[in-house]
Amino acid sequence: MIPYENLKRLNTPFINKLKQGFDKVLDNGYYILGPELEAFEKEYAAWHNIPYCVGISNGLDALILSLKACDIPVGSEVIVPSNTYIASILAILNCQLVPVLVEPDLATYNIDPDKIEEAITPNTKAIMVVHLYGKCCQMDKILAIKEQYNLFLIEDCAQAHGATFKGTLAGTFGGFGAFSFYPTKNLGALGDAGAVICDDETHKNTLMQLRNYGSERKYYNDIIGYNNRLDEMQAAFLSAKLPHLKEMNAHRNKLAKLYFDNLSDQFILPVQDADYYDVFHIFNIRHPKRDDLQNYLAEKEIGTVIHYPVAPHQQKALAEVKGLKDSYPIAEKIHNTTLSIPCSFCHTEDEIMQVVEALNNY
Ligand SMILES: *Cc1c(COP(=O)(O)O)cnc(C)c1O
Repeated sequence: MIPYENLKRLNTPFINKLKQGFDKVLDNGYYILGPELEAFEKEYAAWHNIPYCVGISNGLDALILSLKACDIPVGSEVIVPSNTYIASILAILNCQLVPVLVEPDLATYNIDPDKIEEAITPNTKAIMVVHLYGKCCQMDKILAIKEQYNLFLIEDCAQAHGATFKGTLAGTFGGFGAFSFYPTKNLGALGDAGAVICDDETHKNTLMQLRNYGSERKYYNDIIGYNNRLDEMQAAFLSAKLPHLKEMNAHRNKLAKLYFDNLSDQFILPVQDADYYDVFHIFNIRHPKRDDLQNYLAEKEIGTVIHYPVAPHQQKALAEVKGLKDSYPIAEKIHNTTLSIPCSFCHTEDEIMQVVEALNNY
């Protein structure tokens, strides 16, 4: 049996450090907004060579607070890719903003920069890029559009901790870098967790207020905020694992290389390009008989996942959302043919070669 993911195995190398983190929090008696959070925020900002990091309760809230911090009028339009995980779009809707879906490039699965301009209207105020599957978007083209139209930039980095485009890290392209540390992410906590990184001090201060009831000084509330804090325990666990993020990403790259070197050409593999360092949060292949392929692998006791089975515009939750088109053919094509195969820090090279063998015999 080769599971798609195994979090217990993934965290086994860090057991002692995680236990030390737990003991430290228990000992010092701060559980919310204490020294562990401050330490992790410093470390995560430094890791990205950026001035600020604000710990947030989870990835969705990191996106929501980033949009709130932009302080754009209700009803403003926000550009977002049509094939993203639903959370990106939920963040926009929960802020009473209007998602404008732009199709991805079928080669990269990321938003097609050449289709962004035609979606811009006088009401467009922000662009939310999603570095899907652990590959950065084509940020040079996107930044040029952001500048030309004076848009806010929010990067959904939930799948892209440590990914780069032309040497620049995901989350540091000049807006808000919103991260999730959901346990399966490339940097995963032992529960819900998230963060926003940014280089603007005003934005940092607003985010710190928004996550804590709109308050900077206890019991003095300046803006209408939320309770979206990252707790001490999760911060301590993240500090324990952050020094190993590069090594965990390198491991995923080593496994990905086995797929690139050995899989037969009946499968469409992710595109490789020297401008990008991908971190393979997801290693997806595409095949016209995807469902049959998934069943075949299940019979061989190989776990796979579909990211994602239903495109956002076809979700029941979005049925009443105005302005969406009936069809986004590229997103639909991806959703109908994509299959995610094992490529986690928990897997061995031997296991990946077993997956290769099974796939090539399909
Ligand atoms: C995981 C994920 C999120 C949401 O993160 P949570 O911490 O689960 O709220 C948002 N966007 C993308 C692309 C994700 O993969």
